[in-house]
Parts: sequence; structure tokens; C-alpha cells
Amino acid sequence: MKAVCWEGKGKIRVEAVPDPKILNPRDAILKVTSTAICGSDLHLYDGYIPTMRKGDILGHEFMGEVVELGREVKNLKLGDRVVVPFTIACGRCYFCEKKLFSCCDNSNPNAWMSEAAYGHSPSALFGYSHMYGGYAGGQAEYARVPFADVGPMVVPDNLEDEQVLFLTDIFPTGYMAAENGGIEPGDTVAIWGAGPVGYFTIQSAFLLGAERVIAIDHIPSRLRLAKRLKAEPINFDEEDVHETIQEKTGGRGADVCIDAVGLEASGHTLGAAYDRAKAFVGLTTDRITAVRQAIMACRKGGTISMPGVYGGLPDKFPLGAAFSKGLTFRMGQTHVHRYLKRLLDHVAKGEVDPTSIISHRLKLDDAAEGYSIFHSDQDACTKVVLKP
Ligand code: NAD
Ligand code: ZN
Repeated sequence: MKAVCWEGKGKIRVEAVPDPKILNPRDAILKVTSTAICGSDLHLYDGYIPTMRKGDILGHEFMGEVVELGREVKNLKLGDRVVVPFTIACGRCYFCEKKLFSCCDNSNPNAWMSEAAYGHSPSALFGYSHMYGGYAGGQAEYARVPFADVGPMVVPDNLEDEQVLFLTDIFPTGYMAAENGGIEPGDTVAIWGAGPVGYFTIQSAFLLGAERVIAIDHIPSRLRLAKRLKAEPINFDEEDVHETIQEKTGGRGADVCIDAVGLEASGHTLGAAYDRAKAFVGLTTDRITAVRQAIMACRKGGTISMPGVYGGLPDKFPLGAAFSKGLTFRMGQTHVHRYLKRLLDHVAKGEVDPTSIISHRLKLDDAAEGYSIFHSDQDACTKVVLKP
């Protein structure tokens, strides 16, 4: 089959690789019908996530048709059309029973790698390095789905792939980010990053009762899209983010601040220059401008929610400000399984717009071009969907 392979920093190639096989009675094999490139894939593309190997198959946002089933998967049948959570979870361990699916204890065969870095290992992820399990991803013609009796959800025929594809990751991620904010009716929610995750976070914040949403970015097309969703845009190339949020909130600060940027933040602050210099010489992987600004702009007693991905040991972290203001922090990989049914409902009822974020529809063969444009021209490109 053909698959999108990571060949090193900035190098993507579509290659012929062996077809996946059932290895475990709880596996399924999917014929992939649609798959997308995620902002998280850009962290791999840029070489910030360790333990990638040449030839690794990428992709954690994918859906398709069931073409083979292990003997213990009773809830699916051949021909079912399913979406697959990007986090791999066994459904039976201590953490899965608590619905903390991205903390599953059984899906990561390389747990020792993450334990060395983080104390404990999170769940495995599709197509996301060996420390996250080394599983082949779904940017391919076929994919093996472990624990298929737990993860995949069958989707109704009347919904197109593009309406449900983002249930695999960025819609639940935006939703959990908003939920983690503990939004109360009347709240003002400030969201850093108006990329694909920001796009779903804005819509989820309104669904959960936010009165106002402020969207911070510097890419004009993304800020325009945020405005169409009724968020108030701030362009950090043109405005001082802190002052503008102060003005908009009568000096109190935003009730909930959400970092949907992650470790590759840019910016014009001293801290941003410091992070850039350290990243340039390989002394840090994490550029934390958005987190710093969120902490400073959050009202006393407010909540910082962080869907943005971080990997290392950043510094110049304003811990004193966070402590003094009594802030609450919530973060992490999304517990996708928890949200599938609830969010499918919102899509089916037309309460969210899942598709306006898509700017590029390409053939799987053109994946290298897709990565390159999503990486280098985020004004033209907001989200790439690949069709095998
Ligand atoms: P993206 O790269 O398309 O978007 C990031 C946006 O942040 C860009 O529009 C960029 O201009 C903007 N930005 C950069 N610096 C900024 C700053 N200082 N202030 C405000 N905005 C700034 O990525 P995405 O697909 O939207 O993903 C966003 C983050 O969410 C990434 O870190 C991704 O890895 C992460 N993510 C996490 C999960 C999870 O489970 N927690 C799931 C999916 C994605
Ligand atoms: Zn993703």
C-alpha cells in the first residue's frame, strides 16, 4: 500500500510499504477514506518530537471502512464506516475506567521511554513517535487499529467524511479545552491560536456558555474565520495582547484563557526572542509565549486550559504570577473516546461548522506538498485533508 512516511526533519515521502495485518484479536484493519494533517504533525515535521525514525508512517486523524476484524471485536462489522480516536486506549485499565483515555496504561509498548522523561507514560498515539508507542499512522491506504472494540465509532451514512473526520482529534480537542476551562455563563474566554484547534475551541466555548470569546493570532485568514464564528480577533502583530484584553474586560482579565498554540509559538516579546534563541541552539523544544501571555491576562482565580502540545522543560515560566493570582491549570492529550457520541450529535444537528476550516483537499500522493504548504503558508492553508 501507499503511506506517508517521515524521512527526517522537513522530509515527507509517499512510499510503498507492506499492508497492515491483524496482529491481535482486538485489532481491525481499515481502508482509509479520509485523513488530515494536524498542527501536531508539524511538530514532527519540524523535528521537535524525539524518537521518530526514518520511514515511520504518519497520521492520527483518519477514518475509513472496516475491511478486516480480529475475532474479539464484536461491536463492528465488515463494511462499517468509522472514525478513529487518535489516542489508543484499552478500555479496561484503571485510567480507561476513569475515562482518562489518553492516560491508558496498556496501549504503549514503549512506556519505558516516556517513563524516563515524564515519570509515567501516557497512552500511545497513532503515527506519533516511538515514545508514544511506535504505531503506524493513518495517512495511508490502510491502517491497523488496535483495541478496535473500544475506539472506533460508526458514523451515519448521511454525514459526509468531512463532517465527521475531525471527531478523530481537533473537535474533541477544542471541546475538552473549553470544558477544562470550567466556563460559566457570562464568561469571557480568551483563546491563543486560531488554527484548526482554535477554530473548534471557539465554537465549543460558545456551546458551553461563554458570552464573549477573544481570538488571538496573527494570520489574517485565520482571524477572519474566527470573526465569522463571532469571536473578537486580536492580531498580535498589530496590538499589545495584554493591554487589549485588559481594555476588553474592564481591567479584570479574561475568566478563562486557553492556549491552542503549543510549543512552536511565535511573538514579539522579550520572552519570545529568548525562546527562539534557545530553540535555535537546541537548548529547548518549547517556546511558551502563549502560556506566558495567558497567565498574565487571566483574571485572579481564573483557569488556564492548555490543549497546545508541550514536550520539555521550558523556562521563564511565570509561576509566581500564576501562584499569586490563584490560577487553575488543566492540560493534556484529549480523552477523545469520551466525546465522540456527544460531538457527533452536535454535528448531526448542525450546531457546529466542521468544514469551513478545510482549505486544501489533496490526493494522498501529494502529501509532501500538503505538509509543505500547511507549514509555510498558514494564511493560505488552514487545514489539509488527504484522500487515499
Ligand atoms: P496550527 O499550527 O495550525 O495553529 C497554531 C496557531 O497558533 C497558528 O495559527 C499560529 O499563527 C498561532 N500562533 C503562533 N504563535 C502564537 C502566539 N504567540 N499567540 C497566538 N497565536 C499564536 O496548529 P493546530 O492544529 O491548531 O494545533 C494547535 C496546537 O494544539 C498544537 O500544539 C497541536 O499539537 C495541539 N494539539 C493538541 C491536541 C491534544 O490532544 N491536546 C490535539 C491536537 C492538536
Ligand atoms: Zn491531531
